[in-house]
Amino acid sequence: MQDSTNAEQSMTISGAWRRAAQGAGLLAADGSVAASIFAEMSALAARTGAINLGQGFPDEDGPAVVLEAARQAISDGVNQYPPGRGQPVLLEAIARHQQRFYGLAVDPGSEILVTAGATEALAATVLALIEPGDEVVTFEPFYDAYGALIGLGGGIHRTVPLRAPDFQPDLDALRAVVSDRTRMIIVNDPHNPTGAVFPRQTLELIVELAHRHDAIIVTDEVYEHLTFGTPHIPISTLPGAWERTVTISSAGKTFSLTGWKVGWLSAPARIVTAILAVKQFLTYVNAAPFQPAIAVGLDLPDSYFASIASEMQGKRDVLATGLRTAGFAISVPQGSYFIVADATPLGFLDGAELCRRLPELAGVVAVPIAAFCSPSYRAEYAPLLRFAYCKKESLLQQASRRLAALSPR
Ligand code: PMP
Ligand code: GLN
Repeated sequence: MQDSTNAEQSMTISGAWRRAAQGAGLLAADGSVAASIFAEMSALAARTGAINLGQGFPDEDGPAVVLEAARQAISDGVNQYPPGRGQPVLLEAIARHQQRFYGLAVDPGSEILVTAGATEALAATVLALIEPGDEVVTFEPFYDAYGALIGLGGGIHRTVPLRAPDFQPDLDALRAVVSDRTRMIIVNDPHNPTGAVFPRQTLELIVELAHRHDAIIVTDEVYEHLTFGTPHIPISTLPGAWERTVTISSAGKTFSLTGWKVGWLSAPARIVTAILAVKQFLTYVNAAPFQPAIAVGLDLPDSYFASIASEMQGKRDVLATGLRTAGFAISVPQGSYFIVADATPLGFLDGAELCRRLPELAGVVAVPIAAFCSPSYRAEYAPLLRFAYCKKESLLQQASRRLAALSPR
């Protein structure tokens, strides 16, 4: 027993894990790996009983017809491996969705791939399409998976900062970062964690730069149906974009079903085939009975999609008022689940420390924006916190009342 423990301790655990953890900012100096900020803050909320406005997940289930369709699929025996690209009924529904909302004609047989959430779509895409040493550009702050996956693929991560108050990129800074070394530009629009929605001009520049430097665009559009008063523009609808763009989305946000992990991507057939070569050895397939249920969801009438945006906008407004009243300086997001609040006016300059203490100070959990930053940007974003408003209005009001008791220091 003793011997085996010693042997375990002396064994070197090499491999890609270190690059993944480092890319997501989770590798500590002593070589240990921290849990993701979402897991850490959800655990803190569970431990303290604080209201969890940290991890972005809704507190209500998605549409009853979609839930019922999954139950029915299980009863009907849709319980074995689906086809590698996804069930035809879902592939066809995704194609209809792209046509209905964006006028995109996508071939369900060759230009769409169903994945285990947007996360697997991102993983398979990055691993399939970059070589070690290639540069990958993202905006900053960035969703943690991008850093981890670029690290796993051996890529070099370059970023363009999004700064308060509107979190739009400086276009010259974008021009300066993209070069012939850039293999991939990852765009997240609407953006997590800032809630920014990019205007057409920015998207056009991304397409222009991708052409000039022969880069692939990967666009993470999981919040596509959650924009407020401003239309979502998929990059692949812009002239010249489709041929070099991988468009990624998932059911999690659109149907409030984050635990089902049904995602998808669309791209030209040659690119989908390359991504499939990797995806089939990650999960192979997933979510057999959920796939036909999401197909039902994607075919819901326009009114469903309009209602989720207007409901989410109402929730945004409740939390925005609460945060302002509490003394935070906020940027009102144009999309997504999230609002960024600057704690500087309250006298807190270290958002990570404030997030750890917020349960005790106010009975609320948030996540620090610095957790979405590469090391060189953490100090600049330190006073910023991300609050999720994808919660019942009564809970947001309760959180607002608690935050109002936060005294400046
Ligand atoms: N991209 C972004 C920007 C996200 O916020 C999330 C988290 N929901 C994901 C990807 C992951 O999506 P999924 O749960 O479908 O894997
Ligand atoms: N996308 C969710 C968020 O940003 C979290 C997903 C996760 O925990 N990986 O809060």
